[in-house]
Amino acid sequence: MRGRELRGELDAFLAEMEQDLVAFRRDLHMHPELAFAEYRTTQRIAERLTAAGLTPSVLPRGTGLICDVGSGDGPTIALRADIDALPLQDEKDVAYRSTVAGACHACGHDVHTTVLLGTSLFLAQQAAAGLLPGRVRLIFQPAEELPGGALEVMAQGGISGVDRIFGLHCDPRVDVGQLGLRAGPITSACDKIAVRVSGPGGHTARPHLTADLVFALAKILTELPAALSRRVDPRSSLSLVWGKVVAGSAANAIPDDGVAEGTVRCLDEDAWHAAPDLIKSLLESVASAYGVEATLDYTRGVPPVVNDEVSVEMLGEAAEQALGAGAVVPTQQSLGGEDFAWYLESIPGAFARLGTRSPDGITYDIHQGTFDVDEQAIAMGVRVMATTALTSLWEVGPLDSITSAMA
Ligand SMILES: [Zn+2]
Ligand SMILES: [Zn+2]
Repeated sequence: MRGRELRGELDAFLAEMEQDLVAFRRDLHMHPELAFAEYRTTQRIAERLTAAGLTPSVLPRGTGLICDVGSGDGPTIALRADIDALPLQDEKDVAYRSTVAGACHACGHDVHTTVLLGTSLFLAQQAAAGLLPGRVRLIFQPAEELPGGALEVMAQGGISGVDRIFGLHCDPRVDVGQLGLRAGPITSACDKIAVRVSGPGGHTARPHLTADLVFALAKILTELPAALSRRVDPRSSLSLVWGKVVAGSAANAIPDDGVAEGTVRCLDEDAWHAAPDLIKSLLESVASAYGVEATLDYTRGVPPVVNDEVSVEMLGEAAEQALGAGAVVPTQQSLGGEDFAWYLESIPGAFARLGTRSPDGITYDIHQGTFDVDEQAIAMGVRVMATTALTSLWEVGPLDSITSAMA
């Protein structure tokens, strides 16, 4: 019953607020700020939350903020939006084009921010009416693209005491009004590695008196990916692919060092955690067979976002209530990375893809200077986020308090 009322309340809220939210998004779009430099964006959000009677707490660096709506001992649901832009040139010809050379909201984080702002304002009204059976933590996270903003939020206690967390990302291949959802992993891990090999160089006439470094490096280049494919569950799709190799300078001289660099991509979290140690031990065994020294420089990216099944169900049901039957569509695991994954390593939650394509319109791609959205997606996102927060609080919250508040 509350669900039906909620839909009506959201209709009324959006009838009044939708144009204002679109204007807010366009303002952010015109003034994009890169990772950990989102000062203006943070101020704009803080002003609006404060005006709604909320008390935002800006993170110590001055970019990004956290704000609780509601209080009491009930459960806490977190909603997260990322707020940073990309170092790309805006190639669109629209009135709200980026005014900053070399910076553009090409990943749609201006839309995520606006959706969460709209949701915040609606939830503030609900809380004021005594209709929030718990607490909603709003996380306006900086620096997703770095990545690392999620770690900053967590270092500030941003998810302590949070029972579940939800987030959305624009998907230009899904029609506006639809939500792409998937239980289990929905994005991938991507790390970088550099292998440095060294040994005594010498004349190519006498490889037996040197360590034949180029040969050894070539062995490492082919053996490492091959051995990995035998040692890791193939379903994890762990793949090591080299992108750069440098060694030597003359045809008849064996060099004394060389380097190979590549990426490690992985669909599975357990395999991702095991990857650095496994690659290191395989590297050492191949290198020692050829008498060269090898060191591994392993740079961690993000783990895969692994959606919790119960949270996916909650989000899916809320989205069907908010957008109508058939609005939730299946989506695939992408090979992209997303730092929302860090939250889901600590608490359950779900991440969904918000449709932003106009039906029969152009299919854009994210991380392109031409990327844009059908702005109706903003209202859709507010409906989904607000309904998800409230229905998940009702599900686990003290129902007595809400019944008495409504009586
Ligand atoms: Zn991005
Ligand atoms: Zn993004």
